[in-house]
Amino acid sequence: MTRSLRQLSAPDLTGKRALVRVDYNVPMAGGRVQDSTRIEASYPTLDYLAERGARPVLLSHLDRPGGSPDPRYSLLPVVDVLAEGIGRPVLFAEPADSGEAAEASRSLRDGEILLLENTRFLPGETKNDEGLARRFAELGDLFVNDAFGTTHRAHASTVGVTRWLTPAVAGLLIERELSALGRLRGTPDAPFVVALGGAKISDKIDLLEGFLSRADRILIGGAMANTFLSARGEDLGDSLLEATARDTASSLLDRAGTKIQLPVDLVVSSGPEAGADARVVDPSAVPGGMSALDIGPRTRELYEEAVSSARTFFWNGPMGLFEREAFAQGTNALAAAAAAATSAGAFTVIGGGDSAAAIRQAGLAAAVSHVSTGGGAALEYLAGGSLPGLEALEGP
Ligand code: ADP
Ligand code: MG
Repeated sequence: MTRSLRQLSAPDLTGKRALVRVDYNVPMAGGRVQDSTRIEASYPTLDYLAERGARPVLLSHLDRPGGSPDPRYSLLPVVDVLAEGIGRPVLFAEPADSGEAAEASRSLRDGEILLLENTRFLPGETKNDEGLARRFAELGDLFVNDAFGTTHRAHASTVGVTRWLTPAVAGLLIERELSALGRLRGTPDAPFVVALGGAKISDKIDLLEGFLSRADRILIGGAMANTFLSARGEDLGDSLLEATARDTASSLLDRAGTKIQLPVDLVVSSGPEAGADARVVDPSAVPGGMSALDIGPRTRELYEEAVSSARTFFWNGPMGLFEREAFAQGTNALAAAAAAATSAGAFTVIGGGDSAAAIRQAGLAAAVSHVSTGGGAALEYLAGGSLPGLEALEGP
């Protein structure tokens, strides 16, 4: 386990500048924040600090500006959203390693929050540059990492900075993520049912392998199912699939017995725009020129039944092209089944960036036990990998 913010005592916090690495990598369009979930997820830590007389100085990246300033990736639009949401004054300084930033951090007053410009405007950030890490360290008297979604990367603002700034502890969001995901890494209550979908198998091999021994049932959907079906010998027409991952998929099927469940029917269409010619076919009867874009109604029922039998349920990866309503039925059905299972007492966790978006789109994010804010990091952690951003923090 990692030392948590909660374990620090009052003298560690009162009157201190808390350098907090948050994950404000939010979707932006036209200079406006499109979804503030990640911003809201930082409030518990920021409130905790402010209530104890510490002054938060926030570091975050946004997207991939590639090491130089680019107004399209400025964190400035976050200022108002944060100030309004948390009900405290938020100041802004740029760039994150200038003398201006250090000065702004020192003149912060009680109750105020300082947000610094995108860390990835600085070329040293993703290289975990030592000089930059030292300059970051000058911006605070203690370090709190609450950016669970970036803990799988060793960057200057997540890992390097901890060499120069102590105490270095985990924030309340990371604590919550570890407690939920940790339950799935151990021995979850059986039946443990896993649903995996989304686009690529190759990104999720370790995850699949890990669940093969620990889960009671693995339900496959989305484009991932297309790859499995193709590995079983079906002709999937123009469906999105990963031809290079067929051998891996075959080997998983050979070892899984009946544990891995594949769709028994599919919704096909001549293209994502062509919802009108969508129809349901058997996996062995996908017409040439058409693509499988969702699981079919019989599969939906079978998967719903499996989820309702679960005591523990983990889901990553949409069951279809859920961004289009015509192909969101499988995903929405699974979201509803997860919510129902939660009401019936099951422990249910959704992980993955698009999966989290899908459960929010279905309006059911609050109806499951936990929606992870960390896409790749959550999957890496569940696959048994280590997260450098956590390793860098202090032990218990
Ligand atoms: P997550 O971010 O939750 O880990 P992924 O990134 O693996 O999920 O996959 C999400 C994407 O996969 C979505 O954009 C979705 O539209 C796409 N997808 C799922 N099923 C299909 C399909 N049958 N055909 C094309 N795209 C699909
Ligand atoms: Mg994704």
